[in-house]
Amino acid sequence: MKKRDLTCIVCPKGCSLCVTLSDEGRVVNVEGFTCPRGKEYAEKECTHPERCVTSTVRTADGFVVPCKTARTVPKESVFRVMDAINHTVAPAAVHVGDVLIQDVAGTGVSVVATANKEI
Ligand code: SF4
Repeated sequence: MKKRDLTCIVCPKGCSLCVTLSDEGRVVNVEGFTCPRGKEYAEKECTHPERCVTSTVRTADGFVVPCKTARTVPKESVFRVMDAINHTVAPAAVHVGDVLIQDVAGTGVSVVATANKEI
């Protein structure tokens, strides 16, 4: 058995979590959560961690527009997602929710604009 300490990032309360893992890496117990979302986060973080990626994309007219993945992606794909974002040029006019990249880095997740930018 091993223990892993985490801070829950699901809400601003930031509860301290302690996860007990079997030698095979299976979650045996979670302590410290004050709502079910914290337990779910801890279990996922120890078995299949995911992250939402936020960044900026260059636009065709030389500006940048903020963007994010439409939902979480596997943590191990974050650098490939960032590489794809860094190699993307968005149109000069972008609106909130516009899909800037589909299936980014083969994750099945889109990157969407999070702000408007007019020409
Ligand atoms: S366990 Fe629940 S209350 Fe605590 S930080 Fe996570 S989501 Fe928030």
